[in-house]
Amino acid sequence: MDRSELKIRPIIGLEIHVQLATRSKMFCSCAVEFGAEPNSNVCPVCLGMPGVLPVMNRTAVEYAIRTAIALKCRIARFTKWDRKSYYYPDLPKNYQISQYDLPLSSDGVFEVPAGDGGGYRRVRIIRAHLEEDAGKNLHDHPSITQVDLNRTGTPLLEIVTEPDLTSADEAYAFCTELQRLVTYLEVSEGSMEKGQMRFEPNVNVAIEYDRTEYRTPISEIKNLNSFRAVRSAIAYEIERQVNAWMADRDYVIGKGAKENRGWDDVRGVTEFQRGKEEAHDYRYFPDPDLVPVEVDDAWLEQIKATVGELPAARQARMQKEYGLSFADAGTILNDRASADLFESAARVGHAATLGKQFLSFWSAKANERKCTIAELGIDAGRLGVLSKITAEGMVNATAAAAIAEKMLESPDAPEAIAKKEGLVQVRDEGRMQAWVDQAFAANVKAVQDALSNPKKQKQARGFLTGQVMRISGGQADPKIVGELIGKKLAGMMQ
Ligand code: ZN
Ligand code: MN
Repeated sequence: MDRSELKIRPIIGLEIHVQLATRSKMFCSCAVEFGAEPNSNVCPVCLGMPGVLPVMNRTAVEYAIRTAIALKCRIARFTKWDRKSYYYPDLPKNYQISQYDLPLSSDGVFEVPAGDGGGYRRVRIIRAHLEEDAGKNLHDHPSITQVDLNRTGTPLLEIVTEPDLTSADEAYAFCTELQRLVTYLEVSEGSMEKGQMRFEPNVNVAIEYDRTEYRTPISEIKNLNSFRAVRSAIAYEIERQVNAWMADRDYVIGKGAKENRGWDDVRGVTEFQRGKEEAHDYRYFPDPDLVPVEVDDAWLEQIKATVGELPAARQARMQKEYGLSFADAGTILNDRASADLFESAARVGHAATLGKQFLSFWSAKANERKCTIAELGIDAGRLGVLSKITAEGMVNATAAAAIAEKMLESPDAPEAIAKKEGLVQVRDEGRMQAWVDQAFAANVKAVQDALSNPKKQKQARGFLTGQVMRISGGQADPKIVGELIGKKLAGMMQ
């Protein structure tokens, strides 16, 4: 059979663990801290000593519920903790505290940009529950493995989707969009470097051949810790499964076993790890040391009030309200505080110009200082005024960037800085005409090119505009200068 005779439809679901940004662990008061001295943030509870009593971290539950509300999940009013038993060196209790039959939330939906261009993909959320993380095995030495238990007991939100995603790119979009959501909700830093988001895609393929549909067995790709790995591993797995089915038509769900696979980032392949265990292998049972959690109306309302407008909705609104492109609105709202600042500044300023300034010099200055625009510490009033005097033509775009630089050093108003620094734009045509004449006299070659060399015409005119701006000390209005240059050239051609 030929590959071109097959119609292939990937079926992809995700299981994602998000580390919640609480100060202390899920069931003890040890600090959650990245990069601390190994085994320094541990206590009898998270070390799994006998006779200790875990106590639930209320903030972790609130963060989890806040996220679940944003994912349009149904919030359980009664939820409990279960022990998931397995033996592993980085899990000293020999069980993980998780949630089994009564998860904190279920039946949600999250929409992400669809892979087939335009529109959105509705991805159903099966459940989102809370659990604790395990420790970390360190393989820094060739012959021994060391265990660091600092991470043991860190609160994780596990989110499980229905297999509604249809391509590697769509899964990638889901993961990045989820990162934006959790950072926006301030429930997680969402840092990939610190391993705060880990992904486990499950993948199989529906293959239509000769009017019959075949489905390959599902593989679960374990523990991916970057968006790029999610995309590459899924793309690889789709191809692998199609090829496996073409080689052996018995490679179908039911006959072939479910399997866990690992992603080798260096070789770019998934590898078989083991057959997948079923829930009964974990011997789930209610944790007798923890009381169930009851979520009453008052608590739920209180958490609902902290959700606010979600990034996707805000992006659409900001695009409309401020005349921004969809992508630009997305960039501005990547940081919630900066987006708030933008909206306050837009009220006193000129929104479209402010948008340009946010994306050009303000973000450049934030990058230089390795901070966000909000953290530059400039108030909304001055940001707005700078955009307004630029839009009104008091200063040009280049001068605005120079004023911005000064605004970081002094509390002066943008107008005052413009005057003090001689950056107020000159729109007196007589003065500008004199500068244009001066630039023409000093650059005969460029004038010749602009008049007679069609290949260099555009470049030569740009050069002359630059010369006029230079002569004027940046004070000329580049738009009027361009018009004056055009008129003068037209006059010379006659
Ligand atoms: Zn502890
Ligand atoms: Mn889990």
